[in-house]
Amino acid sequence: MDQFTQTVERRQCDVLVIGGGPAGSTVAPLLAEKGYKVVMLEKARHPRFHIGESLLPANLPLFERLGVADEVKAIGMEKWGAEFVSMFHDNTSQVFHFSEAWNKSMPYAYQVKRDEFDTVLIRNAARKGVEVHEGCKAKTIDFLPDNSVAIRAAHDDGHETEWQARFVVDASGRDTFLANRFRIKHRNPKHNSSAIYGHFRNARRHDGQAEGNITIFWFEHGWFWFIPMMNDVTSIGMVTWPYYMKTKGERSLEQFLRDGIAMCPALAERLKDSELINEVEATGNFSYVSDRNHGANYLLLGDAYAFIDPVFSSGVLLAMNSGLIGAEAIDTCLRDPAHAPAALKRFDTLMKHGPKEFSWFIYRVTNPIMRDFFMYPKNIFRVKEALLSVLAGDIFGKTPIWRSIWMFKFLYYFANLIQPKRAFMGWRRRRFNIRRVDDPAMDPV
Ligand SMILES: Cc1cc2nc3c(=O)[nH]c(=O)nc-3n(C[C@H](O)[C@H](O)[C@H](O)COP(=O)(O)OP(=O)(O)OC[C@H]3O[C@@H](n4cnc5c(N)ncnc54)[C@H](O)[C@@H]3O)c2cc1C
Repeated sequence: MDQFTQTVERRQCDVLVIGGGPAGSTVAPLLAEKGYKVVMLEKARHPRFHIGESLLPANLPLFERLGVADEVKAIGMEKWGAEFVSMFHDNTSQVFHFSEAWNKSMPYAYQVKRDEFDTVLIRNAARKGVEVHEGCKAKTIDFLPDNSVAIRAAHDDGHETEWQARFVVDASGRDTFLANRFRIKHRNPKHNSSAIYGHFRNARRHDGQAEGNITIFWFEHGWFWFIPMMNDVTSIGMVTWPYYMKTKGERSLEQFLRDGIAMCPALAERLKDSELINEVEATGNFSYVSDRNHGANYLLLGDAYAFIDPVFSSGVLLAMNSGLIGAEAIDTCLRDPAHAPAALKRFDTLMKHGPKEFSWFIYRVTNPIMRDFFMYPKNIFRVKEALLSVLAGDIFGKTPIWRSIWMFKFLYYFANLIQPKRAFMGWRRRRFNIRRVDDPAMDPV
C-alpha cells in the first residue's frame, strides 16, 4: 500500500502506555489487574540492550508485587553491598552492607542484564492481560475536547494504528515523548555529566558473597561503576564532566574509556586480564527534569519525567515505583473523578520525593568532604544506618530515617564550615565544571 491508499486502523482502550521499560511494564499490569483495558506500545523488540543494570534492595518488594520475584532471581547476580574506592584516600575502599541499614529486612538486591530483565517485565505485563505491541512507535498525540486522547503509532511493518484512550501514560524513558511535545523538559543546571560504558569478560571480582557488590571508583574526572552480572559479564562505565568529555578529540569511545580506566589504578588492576565484549556506547548531558509530571488525563513516569545521575543506582527503582503510584492515581482518576485532584497531587509529591532525596547526595558525591564522609563513615545519631537506607532505596516506606538524614546533612555542612577552602573549591568545581588541575587546593591526596 502506498501512502495514499493506506488506512489507519482505529482502536479504543482505557489506558495507553507509551514505552515498555520498567516504568511502563509496572504500571500496565497493575492497571490490567484492576480490570482496565490497557495497551502498551514499545518501539523496540525485547530483548533489547539498555543501560542501568544495578538494582536496589527496595526493588525486591516491587518484584513480589508484580509476581516476577522468581524470574528476576533466576537472572540476577546478588548484590549484598556497595563498595567505594577512592584514589584520594590511597586507593582504600569502604564497603556498605545493606544488611546494616536501618531496616534489616532488605539485605540484598540484584544486578541484571537489562535485555533479560526488561523482557521478564514486559512478558509479565502481557501475561497479566496487557495488550502489548512491540516494534510499534508512538508518533503523535492529540488531547481531544471530550477529554480522551488519540495516539497514533507506526508498527515496524509500516502500518499505523490510532488508539483513543481515556488516559495516557508516558513511560518512554529518555525519549521523553510528552515532555518534548509540551516543551517542558529542562537540563539540570546543577548537574551535568556524561557516561561511556561497555561490557567486559574476565574482570577480577571479589570472592564469596561480595562477588556481586557494585564498586564505585572515584577518579580525577568523575567516577566509574563496576557492576558484576551473571555469566561473567561485568559492566564498566565512566561518568565524567563536560570539560573532560571535550578532551576526547579523535579517539574512539573505546579508546577514551580505556584511557580513563588507565587513570584509575585500582580499577585498571581489576580489569587487567579482561576483554571487552560489546561496543562501547555513550550517553551525554544526562540529567534533566520536566516542569510537570501529570495532567487531567496523562502521567509522565520514570525517565519520561526526570533523570538523575546513576551513581546510587536509583533509576529502575524510581521508574518502577512511579509505575506503582501511577497505577493508584490513574485508578482513582478513572473510577472516582471527584477525588482525581487529590490523587494526582499525592502522585506529584511522591514523584518529586525520590529525585529530591537522591539528588542531595548526588550533587555532593564527588565533593572531597563528602568523599571523606563515605570513606570514614560514623554511626553517630545512626547516620550511617540512615545513609545505608538511602543507598538501599528505602525512602518511600515508613522506615524512620529522616532525623538521622538531617543530622548527616548538618554534620556535612558543619564540616564545610570548618574547611571553607576545600568546601568552596568543591562547590565551584561542581557548579562551573572546572578541572581539578586548575584547583591545586582541591583533593589534597
Ligand atoms: C549511563 C546510565 C547508567 C545507569 N545506571 C543505572 C543503574 O545502575 N541502576 C539503575 O537503577 N538505573 C540506572 N540508570 C537509569 C535507568 O536506566 C533508567 O532510570 C530506567 O531504565 C528508567 O526506566 P523507564 O521505564 O523510565 O525508561 P526506559 O527503561 O528507558 O524504557 C523506556 C522504553 O520506552 C520505549 N520508547 C521510547 N519512545 C517510544 C515511543 N515513541 N513509542 C514506543 N516506545 C517508546 C523505549 O524503547 C524503551 O524501551 C542508568 C542510566 C544511564 C543513562
